[in-house]
Amino acid sequence: MTSSIPDFTQELSSQHVMDIIENLSSHATRKTGTSGCNSSAYYIQSWLQNNTSSTVSLQYFSYESEVSMNVLASVGDIGPRIIICAHYDSISYSEVAPGANDDASGIAAALEAFRLLSNHSSELNYQIIFAAFAGEEQALLGSRIFVQKLLLEQQPIMAVINIDTVGYGFFQSLYSNLASLWLADILMEGAFSFQLPCVKSIIGYPENSAGDHQSFWNVNIPAVLIYEHGPQYPFFHGEQDTIDKVNFDLVKQAALISSIGIYLLNSRGSISISPILMFFVMLPTITLAGVFFFISTKKL
Ligand SMILES: [Zn+2]
Repeated sequence: MTSSIPDFTQELSSQHVMDIIENLSSHATRKTGTSGCNSSAYYIQSWLQNNTSSTVSLQYFSYESEVSMNVLASVGDIGPRIIICAHYDSISYSEVAPGANDDASGIAAALEAFRLLSNHSSELNYQIIFAAFAGEEQALLGSRIFVQKLLLEQQPIMAVINIDTVGYGFFQSLYSNLASLWLADILMEGAFSFQLPCVKSIIGYPENSAGDHQSFWNVNIPAVLIYEHGPQYPFFHGEQDTIDKVNFDLVKQAALISSIGIYLLNSRGSISISPILMFFVMLPTITLAGVFFFISTKKL
């Protein structure tokens, strides 16, 4: 274990992780614009108010004439920002969409990671922003609106960690584009120092459907997706995406990888390497990841 990093494994609450997934997946659906979706936003808002010392706000937008919202929170002084995010909306091929793994699991991991970091905010040099997005299943609507407004504020954004579907499989994967490899490397280093297994993959640049990290890649902000590694989740976007399918230990691993990684980032900053040099250094990984990507292309 890297001695300068707090022992987040002891500070993490299993009960929080379970409670959050249980609450969010108890709604018939959290489809964007529905009452289940908006009730979930208010739950996340009050969870943040009750469990962190952050500044919490709602960012409203409309979807098909219905009001929807992103839930935002921040700790730390104004300055370079690190964003931790997940989407809280769900979708299915019927009216029943519990979305326990996609993506209540990611919200639970992101909330708990943000809580751990907010407890140590006095040790951090950056502003940490938490974002729970709606509209992910509608071509990343919520995160695209968030990014548009963020850019208007003209504050530097150092890194983004997006957590989506982390409760099934063997361990976690870190997906980055080429420009975000340095960020995946730091997350990987932090994870290994706490014996948390994960693998790193590089993915390309498909249309706005792969997850909210894409909204940041679209404007050249470094972002990494934490996503479960293993067999394809068979209950994606279905009525059976229920809490009994979720492995809480995996969700906790995602929370720890995020909080440890962000804490490590605090002491490192970004690493500037020529993209051409990086390409040749990473060529074997890129080749393997490309093969994996074509095998496992999926919608989150
Ligand atoms: Zn998802």
